Amino acid sequence: MADKIKADKAPLLEVKNLQMHFPIYGGLFKKHVGNVYAVDGVNFTLNQGETLGLVGESGCGKSTTARAIAQLHTPTGGEVLFEGQNIAGKTGHELLAARQDMQMIFQDPYASLNPRMTAGNIIAEPMQIYKKRGMLEITKVQITERVEELMEKVGLSKHFRNRYPHEFSGGQRQRIGVARALSLNPKLILADEPVSALDVSIQSQILNLLKDLQIEFNLSYLFIAHDLAVIEHISDRIAVMYLGKIVEISRSTDLYSNPLHPYTEALLSAVPIPDPEVEKNRKRIILTGDVPSPDIQRPGCAFYERCPRAMDRCKKEMPVLTEITEDHQVACFLHEK
Ligand code: SF4
Repeated sequence: MADKIKADKAPLLEVKNLQMHFPIYGGLFKKHVGNVYAVDGVNFTLNQGETLGLVGESGCGKSTTARAIAQLHTPTGGEVLFEGQNIAGKTGHELLAARQDMQMIFQDPYASLNPRMTAGNIIAEPMQIYKKRGMLEITKVQITERVEELMEKVGLSKHFRNRYPHEFSGGQRQRIGVARALSLNPKLILADEPVSALDVSIQSQILNLLKDLQIEFNLSYLFIAHDLAVIEHISDRIAVMYLGKIVEISRSTDLYSNPLHPYTEALLSAVPIPDPEVEKNRKRIILTGDVPSPDIQRPGCAFYERCPRAMDRCKKEMPVLTEITEDHQVACFLHEK
């Protein structure tokens, strides 16, 4: 996959200084008293056919990043260049046109599927919406054929099209979510923890399905997970997020063999190793406390309060993402050149 990435030129998606701040209102008169800095200056690119894993603990801003890219939240600042066009803040027809090529898969397939609609209607709905708006030329018969074809592609019998979500297992429901996301033939899929709610045995089936579909349709994925174990085999590159910022971004193989940021090291030390001897002898890095509240903009490193290797200057100065080797960037004073 890596060679294919090099061959492609302009990135499909370029996120520049993306910010998503939510206002906090308080007091008797519900005055604006501050902000939650959920996403605070995120930059990355994603190429056609590539998978970028976005990893970090709950509350670090991963899902908000995906939602701000899809314009489900209007970004506070920054640019979202999709095929070179900035779609940040776009609405109406322009946004719908971009969304045709950019679809989302959600974490909880049960909550994200309308329980009163059949599987067939759920998968057909995006095509019907775009047809109604005059943005897709397709007949009723073609929609039915496409639904059946997509069901078979994701490993569901077309004969299940009149069943309701509660009649499917968790894994099957996520397959319906995948088929729906594919219905408009997108280029990019924003997959927000698509396997986190599933049993481990089912997780690998869905991951394999996503990999097969990527090859068949040359899809790009922004694949969000809270656990590095899940994204190891699906990601070409991985971005590690902490408190609204990317703290390390690298080729997947480099990140697992040579993590540079203390937070990445801690996340990796929690990934189980199949060899029991190695697993028994390795050192775990236990992080104390939770991700701090994102309602304060800190002058220093966002990870300072939990970092086992913090120095005095880390409290006062903010490290910026710096290229260490080709395609490997980290924001940490331990790796200053
Ligand atoms: Fe830790 Fe300092 Fe590096 Fe931040 S800059 S990760 S506090 S060593």
